[in-house]
Amino acid sequence: MPDGQPTIGRSKPIAFIDLDAQRRRLDGRVEAAIQRVVSQGAFILGPEVAALERRLEAFTGAAACVTCASGTDALALALMVKDVGPGEAVLVPSFTFAATAEVVVRQGAVPVFLDVCPDTFTLTPDALDAGVAAARAHGLRPVGVIPVDLFGQPAPYATLGPAAAALGLWVLADAAQSLGATLDGRPVGVLADVTATSFFPSKPLGCYGDGGALLLADAALAGVVRSLRAHGQGAEKYDTVRIGVNSRLDTLQAAILLEKLAIFPDEIVARTAIAARYGRLLGETVPVPVLAAGITSTWAQYTIRCPAATRGQIAARLRAAGVPTGIYYPKPLHRQPAYRGFPVAGGAAPVADRLAGEVLSLPMHAYLDEETQDRIVDAVRAVVGP
Ligand SMILES: *Cc1c(COP(=O)(O)O)cnc(C)c1O
Repeated sequence: MPDGQPTIGRSKPIAFIDLDAQRRRLDGRVEAAIQRVVSQGAFILGPEVAALERRLEAFTGAAACVTCASGTDALALALMVKDVGPGEAVLVPSFTFAATAEVVVRQGAVPVFLDVCPDTFTLTPDALDAGVAAARAHGLRPVGVIPVDLFGQPAPYATLGPAAAALGLWVLADAAQSLGATLDGRPVGVLADVTATSFFPSKPLGCYGDGGALLLADAALAGVVRSLRAHGQGAEKYDTVRIGVNSRLDTLQAAILLEKLAIFPDEIVARTAIAARYGRLLGETVPVPVLAAGITSTWAQYTIRCPAATRGQIAARLRAAGVPTGIYYPKPLHRQPAYRGFPVAGGAAPVADRLAGEVLSLPMHAYLDEETQDRIVDAVRAVVGP
């Protein structure tokens, strides 16, 4: 969410994420798609849902895609497939959105919070040992790890995967922010055996409500997930073979996403250019995002770091100049009231603590023109110079 609505003088308000500009570019195609679904009336699991799943398989290279009602549900369905439960621990970064840990608790298991890399803000393989040790010290069996592709940058799966496997842990990628990104030329969706993503409106590929998907390396699992998302349905509609949930992507959202996916590769190119320009213009002024070698990001957020004591002042000055900002995340999960009681690997997560005080996300979307970007950059420079 933007940190307040910008309104200032004669200049046009700057959008944190400009969904209107995207809608203008789509030029009526989304409205037409919505109208088609309304006329057909196949609101639940209509043909657009399967069509989107096939398109996402082609887009990512995953063996199978199963859509569902949200990114949170995609994570939850993955844990249901893995049969995660009481007595087990799942390692998660502390510097993430609550959903990453919430799904673990809802399965009756325990999240163990890990610190993140100070440069990329993602989990690194060296964090896993302390997580396993913390789980065991609490009498829990560590079973898996959920790396988060924070702000659109994939976690280092090439090294995380083998390190997790050596510890007997599965890897579930939380790619809610990174669909469309790559690591060493391989797309998000094939970087882990199971990948969860989100179509929340402000994500790089967003729908007009809630939505999510699982991308799977094992096509045989897709049938289980399809059953779980529809109340554990078997071969026949009223044949119930497992305890499931109700978590389907609406046909309307699938129809909207099909139109948006068609322009998504172009949008990623634009986001990449905008991020590179931010880097050139701000790199001397503030610490700008760092991508690990071999990474392309989808820039779900463009997040600078400010000295902690000055962040509030910088955000206020930007707001006064009509520039909305966001703070992702003001508190690491291990400090949130709901999650304070869970184990923290090594007893502390100092990087997550520091980042929570320093991060500030600037407006970022595919339709940010140079003039607007210059206004944003000038406003940042006016506070923190040069
Ligand atoms: C957005 C997000 C989710 C949850 O996605 P929803 O579609 O909002 O349920 C999970 N993890 C991360 C890191 C996210 O950013």
